[in-house]
Amino acid sequence: MFDSYEQLEARFTGESDRAVYSRVDNPTVREFERLMARIEGADVSAAFASGMAAVTAAVFSQVRPGDRIACVRGVYPDTYRLFERVMKPFGVAVSYHPVEAFENDPELLRGVRLAYLESPVSITFDLLDLDKTVAHARRHGAVTAIDNSWATPIHQRPIAHGVDLVIHSASKYISGHSDVVAGVVSGSAAAMQPVIDTQVPLFGAKMAPLDAWLLIRGLRTLDARMERHARSTETLVARLEDHPLVDRVHFARAGAVRSLKGNSGLFSIELNAAVSVRAFCNALTLFRLSVSWGGFESLVFPAAIGKVQKAEGNSMAEFGVPDNLVRLSIGLENAEDLWSDLVSALQQGAAA
Ligand SMILES: *Cc1c(COP(=O)(O)O)cnc(C)c1O
Repeated sequence: MFDSYEQLEARFTGESDRAVYSRVDNPTVREFERLMARIEGADVSAAFASGMAAVTAAVFSQVRPGDRIACVRGVYPDTYRLFERVMKPFGVAVSYHPVEAFENDPELLRGVRLAYLESPVSITFDLLDLDKTVAHARRHGAVTAIDNSWATPIHQRPIAHGVDLVIHSASKYISGHSDVVAGVVSGSAAAMQPVIDTQVPLFGAKMAPLDAWLLIRGLRTLDARMERHARSTETLVARLEDHPLVDRVHFARAGAVRSLKGNSGLFSIELNAAVSVRAFCNALTLFRLSVSWGGFESLVFPAAIGKVQKAEGNSMAEFGVPDNLVRLSIGLENAEDLWSDLVSALQQGAAA
């Protein structure tokens, strides 16, 4: 509220930046955005009501009908659906490429408006060399956007590697407590201008102040939580790699590409043919079955369930994810308790 005509007028002429309406600007949300911009190394962050609202804002801020998007193969399933079910009918061409093509094919991004990246990639956990990809993108004038939810700014700061827009589902590690659905986009003042001018006010998927308050609390422990997630996960991955009932572990290891400085708690395993995925999942007691990840509690999600989902544009089926694959999110519980739970469930899965 304003005390005078002059104060209200100053807000509308732009002389004052006082918050006027929470769909556009709110002091608590502004504080979360300020903190995110600082840890991401960005000029500006904009907070949204979900990770998908952040993805949508970043994409719509850059592309027009007739443009082309080149996207990593294995991208987050709902981003894939956004591209297939919204962007394509909107007149935007979208193609999917393995990480190697972004790194090694200098012509891949010719004529491309937006390179849409994840590293590691959601389903396969392949890592992308951001420096090589950004160099190709710049040569062809393509904008780069990356979903950095997996690594968090603690482990990877893509802006320092020249990426234009960094997206987070803040519902994952940034919240850390599985009690918020939220998203954020960060970048330079210039890259963020269309997001701030049009996507935030006109799409209207603004973050709620109470969610911003919870996320500010989450940020206070992000570093400590990531350290614990990493330590437990390193222990479990090493043991799973040696376990006879596990054929393969898909884990994005810190240092495998220059940008990635630390490990996170999300990876997947391929169970041996002797193990029933269903019996393994049902035998777990500490790990719960659910979507999402990045919270305090350990979760599993079997790919076979993702594939029975009838939604048009099922990326798990499209990208050929094997039926024996199970994604694990390692929470903050005692690592030895988690290990006992996995070993017991593997044995029960093999006995079934
Ligand atoms: C969960 C997720 C999203 C979507 O975020 P919401 O907050 O659920 O809308 C986007 N990208 C990745 C990699 C995710 O895991």
